[in-house]
Amino acid sequence: MSTDPQINPYAALPFHFWTATFFAFGSIVGSFLNVCIHRLPRDLSVVHPPSHCPTCKYQIPWFLNIPILTWLMIGGRCSNCQSKISPRYLLVELLTGVLFATCWIAFGKISVGLSIAYAIVLAGFIAATFTDFEHFIIPNEITFTGMILGLIASAALPVLHGADTWLEGLKHGAIGLAAGAGIVYAVLRFGKLMFGRYHVDFEQGKRMIFTENDLILPTGPVPYGEFFFRKSDYIRFHADRLEMVDRCFQDVDVEVSSHLLRIGDEEFDPEPIKYMCATTSTVQLPREAMGLGDVKFMGAIGAFLGWKAVVFSLIGSSLVGALVGIGLIAMGKRDWSSRLPYGPYIALAATIWIFYSQPILARFVP
Ligand SMILES: [Zn+2]
Repeated sequence: MSTDPQINPYAALPFHFWTATFFAFGSIVGSFLNVCIHRLPRDLSVVHPPSHCPTCKYQIPWFLNIPILTWLMIGGRCSNCQSKISPRYLLVELLTGVLFATCWIAFGKISVGLSIAYAIVLAGFIAATFTDFEHFIIPNEITFTGMILGLIASAALPVLHGADTWLEGLKHGAIGLAAGAGIVYAVLRFGKLMFGRYHVDFEQGKRMIFTENDLILPTGPVPYGEFFFRKSDYIRFHADRLEMVDRCFQDVDVEVSSHLLRIGDEEFDPEPIKYMCATTSTVQLPREAMGLGDVKFMGAIGAFLGWKAVVFSLIGSSLVGALVGIGLIAMGKRDWSSRLPYGPYIALAATIWIFYSQPILARFVP
């Protein structure tokens, strides 16, 4: 990029003026991401109503709603009802601001478009990471939007893939999308054969509830799609008591799959059953290393960053995931059976790729 202000209007102002602009804009985007993280998994609109205190619904006036500063000024408490507002709000605004500024510092001298494209990708990563940590899902609004934006960006900005023409860029984006979704789908499909099944033990008196779309475990709801991936996948448990809308069973063995519900010796079609509540001490679930959300998430990463980024993110995330998992077990914070979100590791590995792909490629690819 030329530093001549005649050719490049950005150069008319000091480089770090734009760094500050990226930071400020990033923190505003971060405050919108906070709304997405809170509302998308709950199927609420992200545009209406405007930001309000989750406890008392007090609406923060727009002129007081300044990212980062507002949270610090009110000391992390609602100025109306004094209830605590999660530090996650501050963290997300700061993190988004810092990452946007970093994109400008790293890529601003090469291409303004590239800085903006990577900033958008990282904004998606932040939203995906925080929803995955809290809810174990990456909403379709993030993953599908990411796939479409990734293809558009690949065509509009072929330099994303080191390409020269829009068609070549689009081709790289499409290959990346197919590779990302395809590889993770394959891992999901065959991974379960390797990982097998696992048990979750219940504390006395805890129950699990089967609703129309989710199995509600004491740790939170899990969509059936995460369990029933193949016909042979089933959930199995012994129920001390099993309540349905119109009947009740005592002391029975239960097996649930996508197409059959077996209670004792009786067989039912699970489709019309909308509610079932079980009191049990342990349940056997099909183990899942990753979820379908990760398939779409990796598709979006491939669409933006290409197939090499997919391969790197997959290897990187499993290394980081294994290390974190072993660390947590060693510290006694979890056991082998507990669930960990996988999306954040993918996001972390792909972020490393964005900033270090050149040295990584130079080091590992002859
Ligand atoms: Zn309040």
